Amino acid sequence: MSRLEGKIALVTGASRGIGAAIARRLAEEGADVAVNYSGSEQAAREVVSFVEGAGGRAVALQADVADSAACQALVDTCIERLGGLDILVNNAGITRDNLLVRMSDEEWNAVIATNLGGVFAVTRAAGKHMMKHRAGAIVNVSSVVALVGNRGQCNYAAAKAGVIALTKSVAKELAPRGVRANAVAPGFIETDMTGDLPDAVREAAREQIALKSFGAPEDVAAAVAFLVSDDAQYITGQVIAVDGGMTFV
Ligand code: NAP
Repeated sequence: MSRLEGKIALVTGASRGIGAAIARRLAEEGADVAVNYSGSEQAAREVVSFVEGAGGRAVALQADVADSAACQALVDTCIERLGGLDILVNNAGITRDNLLVRMSDEEWNAVIATNLGGVFAVTRAAGKHMMKHRAGAIVNVSSVVALVGNRGQCNYAAAKAGVIALTKSVAKELAPRGVRANAVAPGFIETDMTGDLPDAVREAAREQIALKSFGAPEDVAAAVAFLVSDDAQYITGQVIAVDGGMTFV
């Protein structure tokens, strides 16, 4: 498969979980990949080695996406080190779960700054470059909770719903300049983020899933690879749920 031959991709939060799977899949399809991470340098280096093993070029770039100046520097460094930017996947995300009445300002602000502010700041920086080159594909990783809400996650659900609205607005603004923007909304995917949940919560979640099984990071990566490829050249402003049939109506 070489749908992405010659393309340069930046994936945020690509050291672990879904982001790492996306970076690996884009590399398998021929892309060069900038692997952003926050703290997991060794894990990011392993993803870089994978990309190089697949025949691509790769760099590990540390940046906290909650820091707007760091996001601009991240995009600038990607362009400088790899020679361009054709594909942006905004994947980095965190959870700070709590019930509404117990949620601290810190929990609210951290999730909004990382999961929504980060998508804005990286997209703004990348968008300038893509508009100038009149080409580009952006995929933002939202969540099914943006569509249906979730007890204990008002901060996370609000941020992920914001990501969908941001995606649709960016899709409208940048379409005339040849840039597409879409979102994926994963359901329950087996990663570190969901690994700590108690068995009872996992079983209750499984009951909600039509296919009765949890997803793998590779399931999300496959949808992202499609959306950033020319196979999706006539698709923009869309949200694809990758959730085993958890939320369809
Ligand atoms: P994960 O296993 O916890 O990995 C999170 C990744 O994001 C790591 O690579 C981490 O980097 C990076 N990251 C966290 N904060 C960052 C920051 N401030 N700046 C830069 N990178 C940062 O999570 P995941 O399950 O793969 O989730 C990936 C995305 O999918 C998130 O946006 C999440 O909300 C979304 N999602 C996940 C699920 C699910 O069921 N797992 C469902 C729906 C949506 P370090 O390793 O360096 O810390």
